[in-house]
Amino acid sequence: MNVETLSVLLRPRRLEDRIVQAAALVFDVDGTLAETEGIHRRAFNAAFIEAGLDWYWDYRTYKKLLRTTGGKERIRAFARSRFPRVCLSDSVVIALHQRKTRHYGRLIAQHTCRLRPGIASLIRNARARGQALAIATTTTSSNIDDLLSVALDQNWRSLFTAVVAGDDVERKKPAPDVYLEVLARLKQRASDCLAIEDSANGLKAAIAAGIPTLINRSEYFRDDDFSGALAVVDDLTEFGLIPAAGVNHLEEMRFEKVWPDRND
Ligand SMILES: [Mg+2]
Repeated sequence: MNVETLSVLLRPRRLEDRIVQAAALVFDVDGTLAETEGIHRRAFNAAFIEAGLDWYWDYRTYKKLLRTTGGKERIRAFARSRFPRVCLSDSVVIALHQRKTRHYGRLIAQHTCRLRPGIASLIRNARARGQALAIATTTTSSNIDDLLSVALDQNWRSLFTAVVAGDDVERKKPAPDVYLEVLARLKQRASDCLAIEDSANGLKAAIAAGIPTLINRSEYFRDDDFSGALAVVDDLTEFGLIPAAGVNHLEEMRFEKVWPDRND
């Protein structure tokens, strides 16, 4: 089933209704809120140089590696794929991943960034409607904070009722753990919520938790199989969501920034 067929399953007006009527909107982070995967890739490569490794992850290599969720897991997967095979101890993987996390924070801070089209208005209007917002991601808490402190505001946490990161649960996506933990914290039924994802692994995780899912297609996962999604869109601007009357919490937050060149 291709994405064009999928997108017809739920027409824009009906999808808008689903968004507006959801008890909570649960967001993935990387690729969904912002096109961050290129920054992650650069951070990995900087960490490899710093650690004296001759590894370099180009676009195609990283695209394949993204099938493995979690940065530490990705490092292990790449080491296993080398010939001769490279054996890394847990402490080496953790240290390498810590270097990468520091570089990611540095790169995010160095470059101004923005949320993907439509995300800011979706968050703003959901808040105005009184909808709960949550995050369910496999990235680290540190990475979320680095990104959203820049792309949203230093007080971004106040917008979200629940934030669950990869290291908060036992199994990363496509296991449903992050979503199940979010549902427990929200105290909402899965079928009343709406997940917003950009990858097949994220979609599987949300569906396994019973949450209807909208795919906001991103650069690295555009050709994934999104069977089972409510709909597939390339950005969220087309829905023209009508803001509710009331206080606009995000009005003074900074949204208009320049995201760095993806083709580093
Ligand atoms: Mg993602």
